[in-house]
This record gives sequence, C-alpha cells and structure tokens, in this order.
Amino acid sequence: MRLRRIFSLVCLLLITPCIAACGPQTTPNKPGAPRDRVAALLDAMTLEEKVAQMHGRSFVPFHGLWPTEEDETHNIPAFQMVDGPRGVRSGNATTFPVGMARGATWDPELEKRVGQAIGLETAAKGGNVILAPTINVLRHPRWGRAQETYGEDTFHIGEMGVGFIQGAQEHVIASAKHFAVNSIENTRYSVDVQVDERTLREVYTPQFEKAVKVGHVGSVMSAYNRVNGHYCAENEHLLRDILKGDWAFDGFVESDWIFGTRSTVPSALAGLDIEMPIAAYYGPPLVTAVQNGEVPENLIDDAVTRILRKKFEFHLDEPAIVDPAVVESAAHTQLAREVAAKSIVLLRNEANALPLDAGTTKKIAVIGALANTINIGDTGSSATEPSYVITPLDGLKARSGGLTLTHVPGPTLSVAEETTITEADAAIVVVGLTAVDEGEGIENVSAGDRKTLALHAEDIALIESVKAKSAKTIVVLEGGSAIAVEPWIQGTQAVLMAWYPGQEGGNALADILFGDVNPSGKLPLTFPVTESQLPPFVNDADMVTYGFFHGYRHIDHENLTPSFPFGFGLSYATFTYSELRLNTPTVDKTGEILAQVDITNTGMRAGEEIVELYIAAPTSGVMRAPKELRAFARVKLEPGEKKTVDLQVKVPELAYWDEATAAFVVEPTTYEVQVGSSSRDLPLSAAFTISP
Ligand code: BGC
Repeated sequence: MRLRRIFSLVCLLLITPCIAACGPQTTPNKPGAPRDRVAALLDAMTLEEKVAQMHGRSFVPFHGLWPTEEDETHNIPAFQMVDGPRGVRSGNATTFPVGMARGATWDPELEKRVGQAIGLETAAKGGNVILAPTINVLRHPRWGRAQETYGEDTFHIGEMGVGFIQGAQEHVIASAKHFAVNSIENTRYSVDVQVDERTLREVYTPQFEKAVKVGHVGSVMSAYNRVNGHYCAENEHLLRDILKGDWAFDGFVESDWIFGTRSTVPSALAGLDIEMPIAAYYGPPLVTAVQNGEVPENLIDDAVTRILRKKFEFHLDEPAIVDPAVVESAAHTQLAREVAAKSIVLLRNEANALPLDAGTTKKIAVIGALANTINIGDTGSSATEPSYVITPLDGLKARSGGLTLTHVPGPTLSVAEETTITEADAAIVVVGLTAVDEGEGIENVSAGDRKTLALHAEDIALIESVKAKSAKTIVVLEGGSAIAVEPWIQGTQAVLMAWYPGQEGGNALADILFGDVNPSGKLPLTFPVTESQLPPFVNDADMVTYGFFHGYRHIDHENLTPSFPFGFGLSYATFTYSELRLNTPTVDKTGEILAQVDITNTGMRAGEEIVELYIAAPTSGVMRAPKELRAFARVKLEPGEKKTVDLQVKVPELAYWDEATAAFVVEPTTYEVQVGSSSRDLPLSAAFTISP
C-alpha cells in the first residue's frame, strides 16, 4: 500500500508538464550497414558502456519524453520514449478517438493513417519511440484500460495493431504493449494470471505475433503483471521462448514503468533488454552481476545488439527534422474527425428516427452534462492535451444552421425544461462514462477498473424522464467499452455508441446525426445484457485464472443472447449478402482460402458495410470456440450498387495449440465459412476441407 502511494506521488509528478528541455539528440551520421556497425561497436564498447544502453535515465519525463542513455564516445543516440495510444503525450497534439473506438472502424488502412499521424507528431516532438499500440485482449469490459486496446478478438486486434505499427514506423519506432495477458488494473503490479499454454498461444498472444511478424514492430513493452508465477519482465517463457525464440523478434523489450522491473539477474536472464524509466536494477548492479558470472556477457551483447540495431535501422543517429506545424495540422484533425465518424456505432434506430431530417427538424433539445463536457478518455499514461475539443454540443451547434438548439444539462429537469423537450423535434441525451469511472490503475491519478457495466443511476433516470416527454429520444453513449442498455433502451428511438471520440468527436457526432456521414462502425466487443453473461472479473485478487473462452467465444459457447453481439452495427442503408463462393473445396495446410461474397446496397443512401467472415470447425477433435473471426473487409456502396468482396483466410491461422507436442497443429478436417454482418447475423456459409 505504501509503495503504491509513493508510486502515485511519482505519477503525479510525471503528469505535470516538465520545464526542462531535452529535445532530439543528434549525432553525426556514420557509414555502414546497421549489422556491421553494431558488430564493430560491440567490439569497441566496455561492459559498462554496453549496460548503459540498457536503461532509462529519468524518473520524470522531459516534455513527455523519457530518455535512455546516449553514448557520446561512440556517437550512439538515446531513445526518447513517449506515450501514447490516442496521440503523442507531449504538449498539444492531435487527439484521436481511443483505441476501442478505432477498433470499431474495423479499418486497418485507416488505422495506418492514424499511426502515420501519431508517428509524425512524435518525431516533431523529438520522440523516437512511441509507446503504442496497446494490443492486449479485452477479456472483460470492466478492465479500466479497455479503451486503449482495439477490442476483444485476437485476430481483429492483430489486424488493427499492424495497421498502426506500419503507419507509425514510417517515422518512429512503435512499441506493442503490454506483453502479455494484461487486462486488470487494480492489482496490475502484482496479479498472477494463471493461463494454460493453449489459451496463452491461441487467445492472448497471436496479436503480438502478428505485430512482430507482419508489422515488424521495433519494440515490445513487458507488462507489470505476472503470468504463471513470473513477472512479465522476468518471464523467460514469454520473452525468450515465445517472443525472441518462436517468433524470432529482432527488436528490443523494454519494461513497463515503475514496478515494471523487479530484479537484476532474473530479468536479464529472461530477456528484458531495457529497464525503464531509470536504472534501479540494471546499471551498476547488472555490471556486477556480469562480473560475478551470474549473467553471461553474451546476453548483454544480445540485448545491446537489439537496441543498436533498431537505433540504426530507424536512423536515430541522423537529425530528425520535422516541421512542428504537422502537430494538430488540418490534415490530422480532419483525420481525427473521419476516424471518429467511422467509429460511431448505431445500435438502435426505430422507424428510421435517424438521420435527423433537416427539413422537418426545427427544434432540438440536447440533454445531459456530458453533452457540454470535454470527455476524451483516461487521465493515465494515455492522456493527451489537444489545444481544443469539440464537444457534442459544439458540434451540433456548428451543424444546426437555423435550428433552435437548447442545452438542458440535467440531471433533473425543471418544468420549463420538460416543456422544451416536449416541444423539440428530437431530444438527444448524451450520457455515459468518464475518466472518473474507468482508467489506468494509478492511485489518485486515474480510476482503475470499472465497478459496474451499468450507467450511472442519474443517467438512467434522465433517460427515463426524457422518454416520458419526447417522442424522439436519441441516446448517445460515451465510454471505453460495453455499457449495459437494459432496460432503459426500451422506448428510445435511437442509440449510438460514440466512445471517447477525440478532439473532433462533436463534429463527427453531428456528421452522423444529420446523415452527412452514414454510420458504419461495428462493435469490437460484446455488449452483454448483464455481467452474468461473462466470465467473472476478479480485479482485487492476487491470482486469477484466464480460461479459453471470453467475449463472443464465451457467449457463443454458452449459447447466450447478448444485448448487442460482437461485430454489430447498423447503417442508414441496408445491405444484402449473396453468392458466397470459395476458390477451392480443399486446401493444404500451408495454403490460403479465398472467399468471395456479393454485397448489395438495398437502401436509399450511400454507405459502408463491414463484411465479417468467421470459421467454425464442427468436426474438430479438440475443443474449439463455436466460431472465430478470420477475415473482414470494409466496402463502400452507392444505393443499388453491388460489389464482390474478397476475403482471404490463411490456413495456418486456423491451427490449434497442441499441448502434447507443444506445437501449433493444422487439423485436417472440414471447416465451415460463415459470412455476414455481425457474429450473430451470418446468413451465408460454405465448407472446405484441409487435406492431411
Ligand atoms: C503504463 C504504460 C506507459 C508507461 C509510461 C505505465 O504505467 O502501463 O502503458 O507507457 O506507464 O507512461
């Protein structure tokens, strides 16, 4: 408890903007390919100089940047590490919708553009390692940092994470975090997650594998928690066997921050390359451990090779001159608006209540304090400081032209306000969660895990009061993960999930409400009716067990009906699915299946549909989830237009982890391809067989 207090104090210091300037370190460029240069440097460096490469050098960031050591003798630049997942955390910077919102776009290409923008702004701030993306699997929606990741599905997170990494790494090194099985805040520094090898390999790590093998991510951050008894930073199985062994990761591993490194020898032996943010266990104690023979020097050489390789591959030794005008540029804030609009999920739209008809809508009541509140997410390490934020009220005002727009803050309504609501053509209630309800687990700084999936009682009461007075109650939800909608949703005309939508969120919301943009976001996680539909969330225990099923895999396995299933989202258009065909009825274990499906826009508006492909293995000899997402695509269609969508499935991705042989096995059996618009609306199916 005492340690946590000290840590909280330190964190308070860290979030206070620092006055001292650090700025990008520049050293003269040197000729030679990275590999040759690294080898030559290793020969020339003393043990002390090598170990100096392996730790941070400040408790407190300089303008948000955490430096490691530079080496003037050998002209080796320092890393300048900076958060984070929704925008660079160094003074004013473009604030994008949170990761969960971006997950709802199901658009890796768009996420690549977000990565490019955040990467470029990072470089403009003098950073060279962006501490993002967060790609932990959301096991339970009460996880305080749910908002930072992309959702509950391993495959989907992997695709989105690779998009971010590829974009960001055009400018800086990305860091996939937090490795691994990190999805509880309140006991994050100590919790020991028990997980069997199959679950670890199939459910909680494939997205990291994709970040390494497809995204070529330069660094990976180890998590605070323990996995099967060992802290992640000293977990040889995670770091050496899986990450650096099986996946052949050639980058470096840095620890999570204070309490992220717990030891000298076990960490160095396990494969932790950099201790952040200072040398508490590395530095002199590590030199001594090498001199005593407790840590072989070749492990130090391996760590330093990884560090130097990335420094040279990413040209950290060349001056990075980036025009500061890229920060919050019009292009980046416009992108933030586009992403926010594509992330909003239309959950309910009775009798086409939306979009608002500009011809007949003369008066709008905008209700709730959140309508006029800056609400962009957690105040922990992912916090950002945009120079402005468009709230829902700002966005609606800017779009409303000649309409009468009245803000009714609530939570209770006066008689005059009730009359305003009754007389309005639409009542838009903005409610949900804030950083007080959910966030990183830093005492006195950010909220930690959520206590409930329910809305606040006064929000529910406000919705009920509005429903009683308005024939068109439109509820806009803000928050970072699932919110229970029963029973208040009955009697509402429309419901939208707007997440924490970033600095342009209010404009994006107005774009959607008025139909300038047709909603296309889909849920990257299940919205259960109640928590009883999910595996238990034990966030105060020091040991928890993660099983094979969570999210829609659990909901399907238990045959439950959630409020809104994974992958669900409505549009102002309607789409029909037809003619699913596969390129082959049989495929070998290393092959690929091409599924093609025709999608027709049968509605009156242009729109974008996310097409989802799941695979079931009903004849499998091992336990399987009833189905799993294996491909998805976004398609844009004019009214009446029909397009063929290609969906590729890589057969090796269908493998299960075989505990007996400790290897992935592609099972030669028959698989069912299911295609449709959500995990519970899959009208088309076809089968193929994997040959022995
Ligand atoms: C968080 C990391 C973050 C780091 C630096 C830690 O507490 O878990 O995600 O990158 O702090 O701010």
